[in-house]
Amino acid sequence: MKIAVARENELGELRVAQVPDTVSRLVKQGFEVWVEAGAGVGAGYEDSAYEAVGAKIIADPALLWGEADILLKVNPPGSRDGWSEIDWLKPEATLISFLNPLGDPQVTQELAQRQVTAFSMELIPRSTRAQSMDALSSQANIAGYKSVLLAAASLPRIFPMMTTAAGTIPPAKVLVLGAGVAGLQAIATARRLGAVVDGFDIRPTVKEQVQSVGGNFIEIDLEEKTEAEGGYAKQVGSDTQELIRQGLSPYVAKADVVITTAQVPGKPAPLLITEETVAQMKPGSVIVDLAAESGGNCACSEAGKNINSHNVTVIGSTNLPATVPVNTSQMYAKNLLNLVKYLAKDGNVEANRDSLLLDFDDEITSSACVTHAGEIRNERIKEALLVISR
Ligand code: NAD
Repeated sequence: MKIAVARENELGELRVAQVPDTVSRLVKQGFEVWVEAGAGVGAGYEDSAYEAVGAKIIADPALLWGEADILLKVNPPGSRDGWSEIDWLKPEATLISFLNPLGDPQVTQELAQRQVTAFSMELIPRSTRAQSMDALSSQANIAGYKSVLLAAASLPRIFPMMTTAAGTIPPAKVLVLGAGVAGLQAIATARRLGAVVDGFDIRPTVKEQVQSVGGNFIEIDLEEKTEAEGGYAKQVGSDTQELIRQGLSPYVAKADVVITTAQVPGKPAPLLITEETVAQMKPGSVIVDLAAESGGNCACSEAGKNINSHNVTVIGSTNLPATVPVNTSQMYAKNLLNLVKYLAKDGNVEANRDSLLLDFDDEITSSACVTHAGEIRNERIKEALLVISR
């Protein structure tokens, strides 16, 4: 079975879906691996590094996509020089990539029309069994780390306390809103840089996790239940949202840096910081809104832009994982390797000679597989398409 690794073409995207280490493992499992020329350069891997572990380098993208039994990618397929990458895929090929299936459901529709079996890495369940394939988490972890470095670089003061002959500088105050994967990493990173860190999450059960990475947990009394089944946050009503905003407002006003990471999967980002609250912050303070792309936790953030609002720098970076491509590629490549091995019944290539034998009773396969045999397999994607067609 032939696995192909495509080059990414989005502006600013430096990650690659497989690194030489993971390719060598695929080759050892019995897969033939093709890598598009230049695919790994952004992440520091020359074509020769892939060749050294047994991959074949292919310069012609149409050939690479057209011959792939499984095509591995970071970003959803798009168009190149007027050609649709999806149209290059042979029917019944398997595509594994981030697909943004709810944000841009038409890509999934085109994949179904092309009879491609597509796995969306966003839809790998966040369960213990699927942890090693959970690419959202691996990338969010690094985004949480990088968000703090961005804030530190933009802040006109230092993070750690410093006692010098010229006086004592108190530590910076960092506030992290949302203590999931990115938030916990942001708290840990800000602590390592010497800041005093407060953390808040709508799920009170994460208090211990916030404390375990060195943060102080902010408690806000909320009557409404905030956790859904499985321990995930649920979308709360507007009164509860308002209570949260009011409860957080004094903490935001006195923070030097606020990192926001609050999200309820599949919903628009909850608004946690109003413009009024931003105006109360000290001049030079910094907000990094990691949720800017899904609507923003801060009223002043704009996706993909750094703006100045009331003398506060509001950073709305959208693809922080791409700014640390060495580690994010290594982690993403490992997530994909684990998924491919899992789908191929731990690398039983013979049993999956021409295409993967998929078990749709399996939770991981059925959650992540969005198209198969010409059908869209996910109701939320079908609903998103209906909304667009209305
Ligand atoms: P996650 O689901 O692990 O964490 C989100 C947390 O927000 C959860 O702990 C949840 O309980 C909490 N939350 C939900 N509603 C809340 C509310 N009203 N108030 C406070 N907390 C609330 O998600 P993650 O993987 O850490 O990602 C966090 C955000 O970062 C997402 O929006 C994701 O899309 C974004 N992200 C951005 C980048 C980037 O480069 N900008 C990269 C990766 C992730």
